Amino acid sequence: MPKSTRRTFLTVSAATIAAGVSGEAQAAERRNPSPAPELRAILRDIDPQRIEATIRRLVAFGTRHTLSVQDDPNRGIGAARDWLFAELQRYAATSSGRMTVELQSFIQPVSSRIPVPTRITNVVARLRGSVTPERVYVVTGHYDSRVTDVMNATSDAPGADDDASGVAVVLELARVLATRTPEATIVLAAVAGEEQGLYGSDHLAQSFKDAGADVQAMFSNDIVGTGNAHDGTANDPRTVRLFVEGVPTAETAAEATIRKSVGGENDGPSRQLGRFVDDVASNEQTGMRVRTIWRRDRYLRGSDHISFLLRGYPAARFTEPRENFAHEHQDVRVENGVQFGDLIEFCDFAYIARVARVNAAALWSLSQAPGTPKGVVIDTTQLTNETTLRWNPNPEPDLAGYEIVWRETTAPDWTHSRKVGNVTTFTIDLSKDNVFFGVRALDRNGNRSPAAAPQPSS
Ligand SMILES: [Zn+2]
Repeated sequence: MPKSTRRTFLTVSAATIAAGVSGEAQAAERRNPSPAPELRAILRDIDPQRIEATIRRLVAFGTRHTLSVQDDPNRGIGAARDWLFAELQRYAATSSGRMTVELQSFIQPVSSRIPVPTRITNVVARLRGSVTPERVYVVTGHYDSRVTDVMNATSDAPGADDDASGVAVVLELARVLATRTPEATIVLAAVAGEEQGLYGSDHLAQSFKDAGADVQAMFSNDIVGTGNAHDGTANDPRTVRLFVEGVPTAETAAEATIRKSVGGENDGPSRQLGRFVDDVASNEQTGMRVRTIWRRDRYLRGSDHISFLLRGYPAARFTEPRENFAHEHQDVRVENGVQFGDLIEFCDFAYIARVARVNAAALWSLSQAPGTPKGVVIDTTQLTNETTLRWNPNPEPDLAGYEIVWRETTAPDWTHSRKVGNVTTFTIDLSKDNVFFGVRALDRNGNRSPAAAPQPSS
């Protein structure tokens, strides 16, 4: 890339002057104002009774174990698959052709938790974006379930919280969004094979990779059933955790070398996504606080977002604030007066509806805003006390321009921002050595993309 063509030089100068005229940088606007009317209507439409009905139906299949029967109309994962497919097709029928539903099947070969080659099927609804359909946002829940022995395919495995709750979020989003027109594509998927080794999401993520899809965010909803751990601790019904990694799972050796040299462990794409979700979804309309946890997942556990992280896609996991491990991955039984098992009586449908609202706020805000800027670099050809950033132009027709954000290296979230207009390079009078930078894209309605952190470049 040329160091400084005459054209970029002029653009930089003009932009620098413009910023000087417009005055000092503002403090970063931490919270988006009240959601736009269309998002408020979406949040209102999310219905706890629909969520309850979905979970009751899924539990009624007895077991949804990945190795369970696939051709019984009433019991097992095959019956659950067919019901999910029919339900999503019903929603798609209201979408004027924008939503399509697919059974995405493959044969999983023998592995440690798959004793014989097994057909695994994801049920995938795709709501095509109206402006930039190539830009994709994905939400999943897993519809398979398990008991104590992960190979037990016949005992009742209600899986109400793990993870009928997440599937109910996916279905409710599909129902409510089917009649709307997002600018980017939204994929809502019930995946299988999670408990056996994330196989369904692995296949889904690989299918996006093979298609060269531009997946800009993925959320796994896994164990989002209640704020009440039923263990004597206080109910926490207004909190949902969002697990977001820092150092990218898919980081290359070359990227690791750069990070060790100049930092950036809190600036991976998933962590930027976490900041974005907190901004747009912790508010009165969702009724929730997104408690961002700076970890890929909990100890000894891992969910379907990892399949996307492995392929370099930004991804995160929603889960309830505090778990009761006697209700997860357990045979249904009473022992010493304690009820074990993942039963529907421990689910709070109003809580799950609020988690669905958090997902909807994140998805709608992502799809209506411009995409995350790409190719963002920080000029490191010279040792100077100012900073030049460059990036690729965004494709959205309603793009208004860009905003540079920054913070002290010790701060968790952006503290300052400066609108820089519709340019693709900007020089700011701050030392790149002293703060962390990001670039966000803005549209004419004031919607902001997630931030992208710059990589060093000549
Ligand atoms: Zn799970």
